[in-house]
Amino acid sequence: MENLAVVIFRNNLRIEDNQSLYNACKKYDYVLGLYSLEILENEVFGFKKCDIFREKLIKESLQNLQKNLLKYDINLSIVNNIDNALKKLASSYNIEVFFDEEVGTEEQNFENKFKKYKHQSTFSQTLIEPFLFDYKKSFTGFRKKAEKQDIKELLPSITKKKSVYFESLEIKVPIVEIKNKHSIVFKGGEDEALKQLENYLPKIHEYKSTRNEMSGFENSTKFSAYLATGCISPRKIYWEIKKQEEKTFESDSSYWIYFELLWRDFFHLVMKYSGNKLFLKYGIKGEKFNFRNDKKLLEEFLNANTGVDLIDASIIELKTTGWLSNRNRQIVASYFVKNLGLDWRIGAAFFESLLVDYNPASNYGNWAYQSHVGNDKTYRIFDVKRQSDMYNGTDYINKWLNKDRKNKNINYRKMAEEVKVNVFFES
Ligand SMILES: Cc1cc2nc3c(=O)[nH]c(=O)nc-3n(C[C@H](O)[C@H](O)[C@H](O)COP(=O)(O)OP(=O)(O)OC[C@H]3O[C@@H](n4cnc5c(N)ncnc54)[C@H](O)[C@@H]3O)c2cc1C
Repeated sequence: MENLAVVIFRNNLRIEDNQSLYNACKKYDYVLGLYSLEILENEVFGFKKCDIFREKLIKESLQNLQKNLLKYDINLSIVNNIDNALKKLASSYNIEVFFDEEVGTEEQNFENKFKKYKHQSTFSQTLIEPFLFDYKKSFTGFRKKAEKQDIKELLPSITKKKSVYFESLEIKVPIVEIKNKHSIVFKGGEDEALKQLENYLPKIHEYKSTRNEMSGFENSTKFSAYLATGCISPRKIYWEIKKQEEKTFESDSSYWIYFELLWRDFFHLVMKYSGNKLFLKYGIKGEKFNFRNDKKLLEEFLNANTGVDLIDASIIELKTTGWLSNRNRQIVASYFVKNLGLDWRIGAAFFESLLVDYNPASNYGNWAYQSHVGNDKTYRIFDVKRQSDMYNGTDYINKWLNKDRKNKNINYRKMAEEVKVNVFFES
């Protein structure tokens, strides 16, 4: 029997700086890539786990990966049942499975399917090398330690290999209809990720002053969707920024991209070390808050009918494009929990379904943070009116809301006070 390395692709849909692929290519002559569509299935709180926006991005990324792997004579098989695929492969070859470890509970349970075979796994989701820290503490302590670390160099390129033929499904990319000219749209794939990096590098010195805007493709890096699918590694981004700084200069702004990438690392590692806690109602703090179970409030929220323009506009953008800026994500999450008092996990599941750049750690970590069950230090709320005044809310609302809709008379400051006392027991 021939020896064969089987590289499992999940959220590492790239060739450059891909640790599992690199390890497999180093050790074996014969290499096959495997991706199972079953990871896109299932529901969370009645929402499709992966709605059309992310499905499109992932499938485009798979097409691109399949094409690029062929340049190294490596086949990528797309299957819908990893158990069956591995069983069949193991009956014809001496297989060793190579995979990237992930941090979500479901993602880790899925790994048990490959651990039955001879396997090699690595953790390469983060920019920094993981170190142990108290996952209940805030970001600042983590950051200070993380900033002392030298970032690893990129891996050497892989070389041409041999592969075997294995059954593969045809990839059908869903068509997403975009109706609003302000929509932010991503095309999947490593080639696109590298293009976006190249396009953004000249703007690194503007990042800090634009990153908080509610709309505009150019206002932040738009790396998140490519990081979530693993079309690019955080280290690739880091080193390209360093090169750009050498060509130009270092600035507080270019540093801030690295700072934000550390937030991403932070949530990944909090999830890694806290087990399933970021998916639980009372999060990592474990305090028993009295979240409301109010179907009407929830329906109004999901239907962009809260009567608060900035919130409804944001929900419309999210539901029709799969995108929301960081500012709007914070405002919406805060409103869901701190004004409506609803169970944050439902809001997080709603985002999980729709966000084109969803990853478990960043989504649940940020939701928990906004919901006072995560790594936040004090009880904070995003005041919708103030946020709208500070960040061109009216302009944003005009882009996404039908202008003749009637405003409801909502006193959301009073709502927030009630929730603070009755849900969070804060005085
Ligand atoms: C409620 C909520 C849910 C979120 N869900 C996700 C998610 O599922 N996936 C996701 O990638 N990000 C999530 N974020 C974080 C953040 O909103 C996005 O990473 C960012 O808006 C993506 O745009 P960008 O790539 O242009 O970011 P930039 O502002 O250009 O930042 C550069 C990179 O830093 C990282 N980053 C920036 N802000 C954060 C943050 N607050 N937390 C973690 N990483 C960060 C991202 O990888 C991002 O690509 C969420 C934030 C909130 C408040």
